[in-house]
Amino acid sequence: MSDGYMSDSATTRLRAVGLRVTKPRIAVLELLDTAGSSHEHVTVADLADRVRNRLGSVSTQAVYDCLEALTSAGIVRRIEPAGHPTRYETRVGDNHHHLICRACGLTTDVDCAVGAAPCLEPSSHAGYVVDEAEVIFWGLCPTCAADRRAADRRAAERGAADRGAAEGHPEPQPTYTKGQP
Ligand SMILES: [Zn+2]
Ligand SMILES: [Zn+2]
Repeated sequence: MSDGYMSDSATTRLRAVGLRVTKPRIAVLELLDTAGSSHEHVTVADLADRVRNRLGSVSTQAVYDCLEALTSAGIVRRIEPAGHPTRYETRVGDNHHHLICRACGLTTDVDCAVGAAPCLEPSSHAGYVVDEAEVIFWGLCPTCAADRRAADRRAAERGAADRGAAEGHPEPQPTYTKGQP
């Protein structure tokens, strides 16, 4: 898979889509590129912190505005997983999909299954002209899956201990009185 989408400078990408080149826009693109090189998908809150670290005082609203312009222009991609904060990345135009952890929200890229949109064909297109399939594979990331297994194990051990305790102190058995029919 080509990395061409990130090899152009932020300035070149802004000019290519006809956007004015501003410091916050460059910072947002470059910080998302850096995050993307370690396969990170960044929330607005995280990104705003990073932009402020670099540029000083920039409001979160200004970062939102940047992201809106960059997303509309197609040089930033927005991922909106239900029940999780929105995340952003500069890996665009390759129709890749995402694995998302239900527990911690970790988001990981998965290459497009076919290599071109829409990747998946609906069983019925109902007359729509389909050009994209946005796929999220939901589950637990390796860390959360390991935590879950450890918690299950602890619960099972606790259960066994409880049963052991119960055997040591048996519940009084109900007594039955035979009545006349
Ligand atoms: Zn997780
Ligand atoms: Zn991605």
